[in-house]
Amino acid sequence: MSNTSQTLSGKVALVTGASSGIGEAVALALSAAGAKVAAGARRLDRLATVAERAEGEVLPLELDVSDQPSVRAAVAATVERFGRLDVLVNNAGVMLNGLIEGADTTEWERMVGTNLLGTMYATHAALPHLLESKGTVVQLSSTSGRIANAGAGVYAATKFGVNAFSESLRQEVTTRGVRVVVVEPGFTSTELIDHISDQGSRAMAAQLATQMRTLQPADIAAAVLYAVGQPAHVAVNEILIRPTDQS
Ligand code: NDP
Repeated sequence: MSNTSQTLSGKVALVTGASSGIGEAVALALSAAGAKVAAGARRLDRLATVAERAEGEVLPLELDVSDQPSVRAAVAATVERFGRLDVLVNNAGVMLNGLIEGADTTEWERMVGTNLLGTMYATHAALPHLLESKGTVVQLSSTSGRIANAGAGVYAATKFGVNAFSESLRQEVTTRGVRVVVVEPGFTSTELIDHISDQGSRAMAAQLATQMRTLQPADIAAAVLYAVGQPAHVAVNEILIRPTDQS
């Protein structure tokens, strides 16, 4: 049924956090562009639905990015099934906003473990394969990777960390043909805010969503496809993409 040009035909991608939101949209878009896609997350039932909706072959993989053996197994399963790895999309993330004072610090551990360490683990495990294929690492950072706000200190710290790690990675691997793309979305309609346990923060985020035309996951997927589809000598290193209505 595809009428999308198959620009990624022959390529293999691994998308973390592909069971909902941006990751799901990216996995579907990469598949529609001809890539074979391994889709990782903890909710396998949701991944099975993504695989059913995809235009091409999608391999659902149970994956917890905060658990290093799980990450290594997912990378190995991708390469075993598809024979190579060209694109790693580090998308899995949680945003458990709240004030620093009196915070439940186990939520800090979840954010650092998922958003920051998870991204590092997946990059580490995938890098030998990406160096072989001269592939691309896409990092789902955030506008919070550029500007920290009250009530989002730890989330912002993880995304600033992702940006720092990505720039180091870029300097280490770009001349060996591996491209690093940092994508920094503004407010995008997904289930991200539904997982915030602090009621005030969740209500504030939900309220914000009613005040603007938010981005949709497909908008971010289009930005990812743009970067990944460039010729080998073009490295799109950073994409900041906000809703027009977000000041
Ligand atoms: P969603 O909550 O819809 O998606 C988050 C995804 O991450 C889910 O698929 C979830 O799957 C997965 N995930 C969470 N924890 C883990 C884990 N430990 N291991 C593996 N997968 C995990 O939110 P979004 O689509 O909005 O978020 C995707 C990324 O985009 C995040 O990194 C987020 O920070 C970033 N972002 C989002 C913005 C927004 O406004 N929505 C703005 C800027 C950046 P499962 O629960 O099945 O494991």
